[in-house]
Amino acid sequence: MRDSYEVVIIGGGIIGSAIGFNLLKMGVKDICVIEKSYVSSGSTGRCAGGIRQQWSSPMNVRLAMRSVELFKNFEKDVGMDIEYKQGGYLLLAYTPEEEEDFVKNVEMQRSQGLDVEILSKSQIKSKFGFMNLEGVRIGSWCQSDGHANPQIANIAYSMAIKRMGGDFITHTKVESIDIANKKIVGVQTDRGYIRTNTVVNAAGFESSKIGKMVNVDIPVYGERHQILVTEPVNHFLDPLVINFNHNYYIRQTKHGSLLMGQGDANPMPGEDLGNSIEFLEEMSQKMVRDFPLLRNVHIVRQWSGAYDMSPDAQPIIDESKDLSKFIYATGFSGHGFMLAPAVGESVAEMIVHGKTITMDISNLRMDRFKNHIEIEKNVV
Ligand SMILES: Cc1cc2nc3c(=O)[nH]c(=O)nc-3n(C[C@H](O)[C@H](O)[C@H](O)COP(=O)(O)OP(=O)(O)OC[C@H]3O[C@@H](n4cnc5c(N)ncnc54)[C@H](O)[C@@H]3O)c2cc1C
Repeated sequence: MRDSYEVVIIGGGIIGSAIGFNLLKMGVKDICVIEKSYVSSGSTGRCAGGIRQQWSSPMNVRLAMRSVELFKNFEKDVGMDIEYKQGGYLLLAYTPEEEEDFVKNVEMQRSQGLDVEILSKSQIKSKFGFMNLEGVRIGSWCQSDGHANPQIANIAYSMAIKRMGGDFITHTKVESIDIANKKIVGVQTDRGYIRTNTVVNAAGFESSKIGKMVNVDIPVYGERHQILVTEPVNHFLDPLVINFNHNYYIRQTKHGSLLMGQGDANPMPGEDLGNSIEFLEEMSQKMVRDFPLLRNVHIVRQWSGAYDMSPDAQPIIDESKDLSKFIYATGFSGHGFMLAPAVGESVAEMIVHGKTITMDISNLRMDRFKNHIEIEKNVV
């Protein structure tokens, strides 16, 4: 760690790492990422790795579509195989209201250029005969959705950053940020002081704490979500399946394990990342009902992590109006992994050019909360 950098990125999860990687790619060499623990120790390392473009808000659709373009070239650009597979995403509708929403969303997503379609129940049955489809009315299907291994992606970015001449400093905590004459002058860590004028807050569900260090209110909080993992079984499930009505998602990893999670009936805001037996019971009962072929498959573990929730379940990406060169990319509300490549690119453009070039993401600015907000509905 040196005592001065042009840009200091706080948080070595997928978002901070993607921003660092893109800055180096754009020629900003004097950067460091500071991570208080190990690479991928935050939400990224606890994530299911789903990469979908089927959202209810057009902004999320566009960001995810750009990310998919970048994920396709990830191995070549970043230098590691991240088990990326475009096996599709199947979303299931059970009620007339859900059916109406799906049709509306698919229309909107198609208007953004996404190749997505409605499947009838019999079409779903012919593709996925192993599922119990009792009560299903229709599905929404996008073949170019998929999944990847988030830990490997995070590690790939961190290694690329080091290879390209940046610093990736782990086990180092940012404790405060110094300001003089309304400008950032440095960052105090538990392992020394760093002079800098530009700070990127990519601290995930802890980004509000970093905001407090400079009196910037960031309305993001952690919310516990859990995942259940089975023993590996022979490959049978290409897509990630989301069932909003029964409140779960499931996917199969390259290794063969099934990963599944659900929205908590009583979500736990805060930083308690403990596990619950109720989750294991509910999750496994649903799975055996909707995927009867999993009846005799063993559970091998469970874990929990935090979604970094924002008030409208959409990211907050902006530079502070009150403190120049204090930039934040947070509030990903359960979908930060899949958006990271596009977010990394846009935030790096903001730093290098003073504005984004590839995409217009102005409606993710903080000042949207002064007006009517459009809540992203497609979150599990
Ligand atoms: C159970 C679960 C399932 C999920 N499934 C999906 C999915 O399928 N697809 C998807 O796209 N997303 C998913 N997500 C969401 C996704 O994991 C997050 O949106 C994403 O990882 C956010 O990345 P990040 O880099 O912002 O945060 P993090 O990965 O949390 O990184 C922030 C880092 O900042 C560090 N930090 C905090 N404070 C400091 C400090 N003071 N000094 C130094 N470092 C600090 C932390 O240690 C942490 O490593 C899921 C999340 C969970 C919990």
